[in-house]
Amino acid sequence: MRLSQMFGKTLRSEPAEAESVSHRLMLKAGMVYQVSAGVYSYMPLAWRVLRNIEQIIREEMDAAGGQEVRMPVLQPLELWEASGRSAAFGDTLFKLKDRRQRPLCLAPTHEEVITQMAKQHIHSYKDLPRLPYQIQTKLRDEARPRAGLMRVREFDMKDLYSMDLDQAGLDVSYDKMVQAYKNIYKRCGLPALAVEADSGAIGGKDSHEFILIAESGEDRVVRCQGCGFAANLERASGVKPPLEKEDPLPLEEVSTPGIHTIKGLADYLDVPEAKTLKAVFYSADGQVVFVTLRGDLEVNEVKLKNLLRAADLRLATDEEVKAAGLVAGSASPIGITDLKRVADDSIELGSNFVVGANKPDTHFKNANYPRDFRIDVMADIAEVKEGQGCPQCGKPLSIARGIEVGHVFKLGTFFSEVFGAYYLDAQGKQQPIVMGCYGIGVGRLMAAAMEQNHDDKGIIWPVPIAPYQVHICALSMDKPDVQSAADQLYSTLQGEGLEVLYDDRDESPGVKFNDADLLGMPVRLTVSPRNLKSGSVEFTERVTMETRMVPLDGVVAEVKSILANSN
Ligand code: ATP
Ligand code: MG
Repeated sequence: MRLSQMFGKTLRSEPAEAESVSHRLMLKAGMVYQVSAGVYSYMPLAWRVLRNIEQIIREEMDAAGGQEVRMPVLQPLELWEASGRSAAFGDTLFKLKDRRQRPLCLAPTHEEVITQMAKQHIHSYKDLPRLPYQIQTKLRDEARPRAGLMRVREFDMKDLYSMDLDQAGLDVSYDKMVQAYKNIYKRCGLPALAVEADSGAIGGKDSHEFILIAESGEDRVVRCQGCGFAANLERASGVKPPLEKEDPLPLEEVSTPGIHTIKGLADYLDVPEAKTLKAVFYSADGQVVFVTLRGDLEVNEVKLKNLLRAADLRLATDEEVKAAGLVAGSASPIGITDLKRVADDSIELGSNFVVGANKPDTHFKNANYPRDFRIDVMADIAEVKEGQGCPQCGKPLSIARGIEVGHVFKLGTFFSEVFGAYYLDAQGKQQPIVMGCYGIGVGRLMAAAMEQNHDDKGIIWPVPIAPYQVHICALSMDKPDVQSAADQLYSTLQGEGLEVLYDDRDESPGVKFNDADLLGMPVRLTVSPRNLKSGSVEFTERVTMETRMVPLDGVVAEVKSILANSN
């Protein structure tokens, strides 16, 4: 590709709207065009990278036994009502009507349709296992599209669905996919980490996310340096610090004027925050829920939502709290009988807690469970804190931010039972197909690759996904010998099957070098009058920025050897 002809220009200035490194680099390199919030066009450079990534994914899926199919984006809403996921996705699901007023939606994922296809095409145990997949557009009306391609409303995803006889078969398919995913990330230059993930309300058994540790990520990952345990904060548990057990003392009312926070309360009464119980009020599908946990901990809303099997969970509003007769700042479960009471199991790790007295400016000392109050559901609903013990080995846990670049999920028989996707086993008995689903976002993977592979000058493309392998910088294009040598090099390299971006523009060396650094092709070849005098070109590897002279007749071999060694 001649840069002078390319559709897409680099920016000389910094894009003001950039929200992350990859977003900035993509805008600066002229790779994407924003059409509206979370909706992008890809310019030729980005599209080449995306197609390279797709190809890597396709190769790995095929190698693991995948079969490529294609399903529609436009789907009858009915299907989503049958599975209950119209409600579960809520406003994230794009809904529309056709000319006959039939309700439709734009698919955010494809379990419903693939299960219907399985129902029609899988009849016997001889038809299993099957691993259909597609690489195709998903639509999600995300609440907060952000950071360029990281969170968008229209994106391409590879989604594979495993269909097996039983749980053991599912385990085999799952392991194959985990391995295929590891291969994909490696080829894309990403040290992605497999972490235990939340499996949501549908409650499949196992689920792992692949996370790239990065400051700009929206996910938080809990990791143990001791045993390698890693889990998304949404589902992780830690060992909560126990308190010394004391003999229960009598409940004692204390006046706490103007005190509404746990910190204020702990300071005022000179006790550690862990010695208090906090009350938090939620609205779960419209019902107020009274949540109690130790004062040094916070509620993990994902755990709470799963525990309550709620489609919608949010903090209760002041009005809802008042209407429920609760005294915010001085509330406790003591004497509460008409609301659902949920507690974190930390309330049993200690005794003689300070709690609210359910009247303004008043607390109790020495509250003890179950002596003083009742709970309807007790479980681990607390968020892990840095330094808590690992649930597997007890060593301290750390928390880091990361980008979710893939998700694998054991669905079990939820969808096959909803849609009646059964097969006959060897005994002639009807069994539901056991399913799993496996997703990778192609655009987010490209953005993550840029987050991981760049320096202050620009992108450093990993060789397998680079838009072009070689970037020719021809300096002084007005000199006929430069032009003819550069043209010649361009066609020789292309003739050797290499992908080449040729900067044939009439621009200064500074501009050309800056663009070459920004665009980040693995090898840069500089043709200049001075280099040509010695029959050489300047050879620069983007990753190290090391430069050396290579004779013109040795360039092809040198380029090939560098590219081969970087794969
Ligand atoms: P998130 O938690 O980031 O919203 P998700 O868990 O809803 O994602 P999945 O349904 O697991 O997403 O989708 C599989 C993969 O698709 C994700 O691992 C991610 O790579 C990609 N993906 C999901 N949502 C988006 C989005 N809005 N924009 C870009 N890529 C996305
Ligand atoms: Mg996910």
